Amino acid sequence: MKVLVVGSGGREHAIVKKLKESPKVTEVLAAPGNAGIAREARVVPVEADNLSGLLEIAQRENVDLTVVGPELPLTLGIVDYFNEHGLLVFGPCRDAAQIEGSKSFAKELMRENGIPTAFYETFSDYNEAREYVYQKGVPIVIKADGLAAGKGVYVCQELEEAVKALDDIFVKRIFGASGNKVVIEEYLEGQEVSIIAITDGETVVQMVPAQDHKRVFNNDQGPNTGGMGAYAPAPVYTPEIAERVQREILLPTIKGLKKKGITYQGVLYAGLILTREGPKVLEFNARFGDPETQVILPLLKTDLVEIMLAVVEKRLSQVKVEFLPKACATVVLASGGYPGKYETGKVIHGLDRLPPGVVAYHAGTALNGDDIVTAGGRVLNITAVGDTLKAAIELAYEGVKAVSFEGMHYRTDIGQKALKLQ
Ligand code: AMP
Repeated sequence: MKVLVVGSGGREHAIVKKLKESPKVTEVLAAPGNAGIAREARVVPVEADNLSGLLEIAQRENVDLTVVGPELPLTLGIVDYFNEHGLLVFGPCRDAAQIEGSKSFAKELMRENGIPTAFYETFSDYNEAREYVYQKGVPIVIKADGLAAGKGVYVCQELEEAVKALDDIFVKRIFGASGNKVVIEEYLEGQEVSIIAITDGETVVQMVPAQDHKRVFNNDQGPNTGGMGAYAPAPVYTPEIAERVQREILLPTIKGLKKKGITYQGVLYAGLILTREGPKVLEFNARFGDPETQVILPLLKTDLVEIMLAVVEKRLSQVKVEFLPKACATVVLASGGYPGKYETGKVIHGLDRLPPGVVAYHAGTALNGDDIVTAGGRVLNITAVGDTLKAAIELAYEGVKAVSFEGMHYRTDIGQKALKLQ
C-alpha cells in the first residue's frame, strides 16, 4: 500500500515511522513533512490545509490510504472531500470533527448525553459574558469557541485575568472568527490524562493512557505550550477509571453523535481531568494528540495500518489492539523564547550521536544545505522506550544530552509526577 500522511510535526513523524513498520506498506508520502520525516518518507511541498493540492497528489500517486494528522484539514472537510473522489482516508468527517472545531458543539453534545464535564454557559455578547464572570467569580475558565492552536483557553485565578481574556477574544479579536463565541466554564481540579481512543462509529478502543506537560517550565510553571513532553502509560489512570470512561464518556459520545446522524470514524481524543467526583472531559480532539502520539505509538504492537483500515471499513471489533508491557517517555526540545517569540534557523548538533534506543521525532526542523536547522517553537521530541517508566525517562534524558542548538530549552521533570505515584 502507498500511504500519504498529512502534517509536519512530531506527531506525524511518529505516525510515519509506525506506518513503515507495517508489512502492508510499500511507500509513505508526507505533505508537507519536515527534515526528519524527509529521511523516512517522500515529502511533497503541499501544506496541510491545501485540500485540492492534497487530492491532486493522492490521485496522481495512486495513494491507497491518507492519514490526517492535524485538526485544520479535518474541520475543513478533507475526509468528505476525499471520499467524494473515491479515496480512503483515516479521520472523522467534517460534521464529526466539530467535536474539536467548536467547543460549544462539544459541550452541548455532552450536556445532551449526560457526559461528565465542567458546568458551562456559552456567550456571544461581551457584556453578558462579563456580567456572568462577575456573578460566578474566580477561579473560572474562558475558552474561545473555535480552533485557536491550543492558545484559546484562559484559566483565570483573578477577575482581571478573566476580563482581559474577554477583551482579547471579543474586543481585540485575537482569534478572529474562532472568538465569535466563548464558553465560560467551572474550574475543575485533578490530574489530567489524555485518552486517545480509536473508533469506527460502533466499537471504541482506548490506547494506552498518556500524560502531557502543557506548561513551559518545571513543576507546571509558566505559560501553556503545545506540550513540553509526555509519557505513557499513566499509572494514575487505573483499569477501573478506564472502564468508567468507556461507559460514561466514550460510548455515550459516539452514540450521541449517531443520534445526530454523525458516524464518528477515526481518533477520538479525550482530554480528561480526574476529579474527586470522577473523570470529566476538559476537551475532545478529533485527531492524535501531540506529543502524546510520540509515546503511544512506540508501544503499539498491532499493525497501525490494520487498525486504520478496520476503522475505515467499520470492522474494528474484529481487530485485537495490543500494546507492549513497557513504558515510553518523550522530552520536547524547544527554541529559546518559546512559547513566546523565538528565532529559527539554528543549526542542530548531535542527532547522529543519539544513544541506541533513543529516537528523535522531528517537529519544527528544516534542511539548510547539509544542516538540519530549527524551524519552529517545538523542535524535537527525544523519545525512548524502557521496561519501566523510570528507565524510559532516564534513557530519553540521555538522548537529550547528545543534542544541542543555540537557545535550546526543555523541562527536566517529564514523568516525575508518575514516578512519585509508583
Ligand atoms: P483545553 O484545550 O480545553 O484542554 O484546555 C487547555 C488546558 O487548560 C487544560 O489542559 C487544562 O490544564 C486547562 N483547563 C481547561 N479547562 C479547564 C477547567 N474547566 N478547569 C481547570 N482547568 C482547565
